[in-house]
Parts: sequence; structure tokens; C-alpha cells
Amino acid sequence: MKRPIYMDIQATTPVDPRVLDAMLPYFTERFGNASSKSHLYGIEADAAVRRAREQVATAIGAQPHEIVFTSGSTESLNLAIRGAAAANRVRGDHIVSCVTEHPAVLDTLAELATRDFEVTLLPVDAHGGVDLAAFERALTPRTTLAVFMAANNEIGTTHPLAELAAIAHARGVLFATDATQGVGKLPFHVVRDGIDLAAFTAHKMYGPKGVGALYVRRTDPIVQLERQQHGGGHEHGLRSGTMNVPGIVGLGVAVELAVAELASESARLTNLRMRLFERITSRLEEVRQNGHPTRRLPGNLSLAFAGIDGEALMMDMPDVALSSGSACHSGSLEPSHVLTAIGVPPDLAHGTLRFGLGRFTTEADVDFVSDLVVASVKRLRDLSPLWELRKGR
Ligand SMILES: *Cc1c(COP(=O)(O)O)cnc(C)c1O
Repeated sequence: MKRPIYMDIQATTPVDPRVLDAMLPYFTERFGNASSKSHLYGIEADAAVRRAREQVATAIGAQPHEIVFTSGSTESLNLAIRGAAAANRVRGDHIVSCVTEHPAVLDTLAELATRDFEVTLLPVDAHGGVDLAAFERALTPRTTLAVFMAANNEIGTTHPLAELAAIAHARGVLFATDATQGVGKLPFHVVRDGIDLAAFTAHKMYGPKGVGALYVRRTDPIVQLERQQHGGGHEHGLRSGTMNVPGIVGLGVAVELAVAELASESARLTNLRMRLFERITSRLEEVRQNGHPTRRLPGNLSLAFAGIDGEALMMDMPDVALSSGSACHSGSLEPSHVLTAIGVPPDLAHGTLRFGLGRFTTEADVDFVSDLVVASVKRLRDLSPLWELRKGR
């Protein structure tokens, strides 16, 4: 059986063969524990982790000792948010973020709000952007932390991190970012952008699942975090547990490749995305793009098809793998919180598909999928009595 064309790149990415090659020896001959340095096995594992730490730090403009390896973005965000909130509790109890964040942020904040913290979630405009003046107004003398994602995984809209961070810093507020869709996909530099904490994960940039990192600023200012996990004191005591050496090696190579190829790959993906958009919207009426038209992830296209049920549309196109408007919790009938937040009505949210284009997406894939979508949407609309009524036919 031919496998479906993969267009769900914001959910996960395949491991690049170059990344896999780098990882493989660390599963077999070089299997050592990076903390057991009394023999060659541990020494080579430790050397591999050091090298990866340097690769990750260089890729985001950080220093190696500012990188904490974790199991992925969810863990990094929990450590960043809970850790910073707790360590700064004497200074204040207020955190500001935004309604379109990933559940890894929103659920962590919701849990803090049930204890002794106050959380303000800013609304977004119709493109998914935050109002900088509203952000400034939301900051109080009790605010200690602000959290904004680099780019939205559903609609692709980017946040102006440097501007947000500057506003936060002017009020003595730490600035954390969920950079899962930012690192390796958009220009991202912790010093230039003024980031204090940044979470990212290997499996969204052609690395393996189950490994990620948290950047923790160590100079000007030193960001204090309260550990969320106790044990052997690995990673400056911030993340105890035997290091996932092959995974960390994979993250290092994945981020290095993604950053080295960023400029050419963004241009290529932007062209592919525009081609997909053109080929669909020139042949179908009543298709609307969700998210910001230009300030966005190159490889994300979220389209709302009027009169269509996204789940039914996906089922009608088994030759392509993508996500619908209730992407995050498949099986749930709730429209996504992101589409709701940007004011997409429930029927259009249910008619939304997210096309994720990545490193291995070709022009032929885009042409094939756009033809499929056009044919499927036409067929489903023709079958729909509601669509007929609406068109007055
Ligand atoms: C995938 C994703 C996460 C979660 O990352 P994991 O490594 O799977 O925990 C968090 N935030 C965003 C924006 C994501 O796309």
C-alpha cells in the first residue's frame, strides 16, 4: 500500500537520516552513562552530550551551560513556568500569557491558578496577534513572568518576541517563550530577542521524539528556577535523571542542520505554501486562510472550507495525512481553542484543515494534495443539502 503524503509537520516530523546516523552509535557501542566517567564508555557519552550542548547553544545564541536537556517541550515548559513562578514567589504571584498558547503552557498555568498564583491570559486579534499596549497594561508590580509562543502550531502566526520581551524587561518581568515552532524554523536568538527562558523539542525539527531542551539565562540576569524533579542532580540539579544520550546527540545535530538550512528552507517552504494556497483558492470558492497572512511560519497553511466538515474531508482523502480544526485532541468535537480565539465561527472551525509542509515535502506533493482537496471539497459540497440551500440552487 502506498503511504499517505505527510502534511502534519506541526504535529511531528520524521527523523532526518543525517540525524539518525549520528545517533545510532550511541545506542550500541557507545552506550555509556554520561555521568559514569571512570571509564571510556562514560567519557565518550559525556563528550557527546557536551558537543550537543554546544550545538544547541550555538544555534540559539546561548552559552552551553544555559542549556538544560529534558524530555521535550512539555517538560521544558513545566520546568520554566512552574520553576520560575516558584523561585520568584517572594517577588510576586502574577503571570501573563495569551489564550492561543499550547496546552503545555495553558494547563500548567491553569494548575498554578488553582494554587497561590494569578494568571492573566491576553486575547488575540483576528490574525492571532497580541496587542503590545494591552500586554503592557496587564503587567502589575506583582507580575513576575510573561509567556508567549514563538509561533502558533495551529495557525502559524508568529509573536514579536523581541518587542514583547523588551516590554516585560522594562517592568522587571521575566520573559519565557514556547519556541517549539520557532527554533530551526524562524530566526531565533536568545540574546538579540531578550529571551530569559525558551523551550523546544527535537521531534518538531527532524530529530527524535522524547528529547528537548530548556534555555535558562545565566547572565544579566541569572534566572532562578525551582527544580521540579529530584534525584541525582543532573543538569545543574534542574533535571535529575540519566541523560538520554542518543536523543541528545540527535537534538544537537537536528538543531544544527535546521539552523544551517533555515534561510533556504524558509524560502522554499514559503513558495510551496503559496503554491498550495493558490492552487486551492483559485479553484474553490469560500475558502479562508486562518492566521496572519505574512507574519507566520513558512510551512503552515490553515484553511477553513465553508460548508465542509473537516473530519469528513480528511476521511475522504486517505492519501494525505493532516489535521483538522480540532487538531490537538483528535476525537474531540470541540473546535480548537486557537480558532475560537481568533473568532472563527464554530462551523468554519469544523471546516478547517491544517496543511503542514516540511523538509521532505515536494512540489509534486503540493500539486497532488491540492488536486485531491479541490476534488473532495467539490464532491462533498455537491452532496450537501445545506450547501445547495446556501448557494440558492
Ligand atoms: C508540539 C508542541 C509542544 C509539545 O512538545 P513535546 O515535545 O511534544 O512535549 C508544545 N508547544 C508547541 C507549540 C508544540 O507545537
